[in-house]
Amino acid sequence: MAVTKIFLNESEIPQQWYNIQADLPVPLPPVIHPGTKEPIGPDDLAPLFPMALIGQEVSQERYIDIPEEVLGVYRLWRPTPLVRARRWEKALDTPAKIYYKQEGVSPPGSHKPNTAVPQAYYNKQEGVKRIITETGAGQWGSALSFACNLFDIECKVYMVRISYDQKPYRRLMMETWGAQCLPSPSRETEAGRRILDADPDSPGSLGIAISEAVEEAVKREDTKYSLGSVLNHVMLHQTVIGLESIKQFEMAGEYPDVVIGCVGGGSNFAGFALPFIRDKLTDGRDTKILAVEPTACPTMTKGLYRYDFGDTACTTPLIKMYTLGHDFVPAPIHAGGLRYHGMSPIVCHLYELGQLDVVAYPQTPVFDAAVSFARAEGFLPAPETAHAIKTAFDEAMRCRESGEAKVIAFNYSGHGHFDMGAYERYFNGDMVDHDFSQEEVDEAMRSVPVLE
Ligand SMILES: *Cc1c(COP(=O)(O)O)cnc(C)c1O
Repeated sequence: MAVTKIFLNESEIPQQWYNIQADLPVPLPPVIHPGTKEPIGPDDLAPLFPMALIGQEVSQERYIDIPEEVLGVYRLWRPTPLVRARRWEKALDTPAKIYYKQEGVSPPGSHKPNTAVPQAYYNKQEGVKRIITETGAGQWGSALSFACNLFDIECKVYMVRISYDQKPYRRLMMETWGAQCLPSPSRETEAGRRILDADPDSPGSLGIAISEAVEEAVKREDTKYSLGSVLNHVMLHQTVIGLESIKQFEMAGEYPDVVIGCVGGGSNFAGFALPFIRDKLTDGRDTKILAVEPTACPTMTKGLYRYDFGDTACTTPLIKMYTLGHDFVPAPIHAGGLRYHGMSPIVCHLYELGQLDVVAYPQTPVFDAAVSFARAEGFLPAPETAHAIKTAFDEAMRCRESGEAKVIAFNYSGHGHFDMGAYERYFNGDMVDHDFSQEEVDEAMRSVPVLE
């Protein structure tokens, strides 16, 4: 019998996360305090995060134990299946073998609870009562709402205005899990009021929503802040995806030639790819690692590798990363989760070290690939995930031309059940492809502080 889904037992969920900082040939650049211009220390971050997460942010330990309470929640949906897309291979008439790691089966529908759950857990351990965050398309807000509910923590979510208006069901999901969700910019914070005074119709952006959430967390003693991507501890928690996948490939008697993930802040990509990059760094594997972004928010393909703020109001520390400038308000494309101006410092550093490649696509061919996949495999991907699918499609087509039977693996970061409005526009031919000109890049980069 030809196997399609490769399942692990619950006991085979990894017991440790993988920390790539232990294996980096060159250490990560330090995070810089915007006032002193010196590297920041744990105390600078203490108003925002619990100490356990600050420790993980800078840890050099290769493997970090996953607490039993976190594993207990992971068991609600993990291990996730690794699936061979046999029907899609056939539809594409390719000799390639295509596998995807199905992260859309979690309760909120994406990979995001892999980090929301440990973040809620460590906050609970340190006596935190409230967590504040921001959300773009609503996936992170719903994942954190889900996790906070399980650990009996109050959760408040600033949701980017345009998504708040377009995606009421994501908000209702957060409310079902007991969280409060409000549109950003709001009048609750100084950062929000400043934006609204200048532009009452501001569609918002992740950068603005982060400013609001950080401001409120800093002001309140019982409240911490939580970020769903970009930071090192988030990449760490997400490595359960790749660690499970490596076991599943072993069971299938395969090892991928190409490993693909879409990138917004970099977390699902890193979670899937870092264990494979470990094998490149330590076992001399020659895997092609591909990160995919939208041409409308081309952080790595058109941005610059510079120190920049993580938010619009310049309240976060300075992080060395690829950036389009912290003032960047991207075009309202449907893949809301990919509309961030910056990128995970770990992903950027590995790109600088030549460990991965980056490609960018406009939305229309991305949806072409999503629909081709859905018609063969049944599952309806999130628009973000569809970027990875488009890349797998192109790799499969290359194999069709060359006759090579490569093993192509991509991370299926989430389902698209709340994104049918985007599919509707695609089917109606109303989808607009945004490209980013050099002038726009230059303009966006003007806000980046000059440090070096
Ligand atoms: C949030 C999200 C992304 C983008 O975020 P990363 O941190 O880059 O992974 C991609 N896919 C889905 C389904 C998401 O919810």
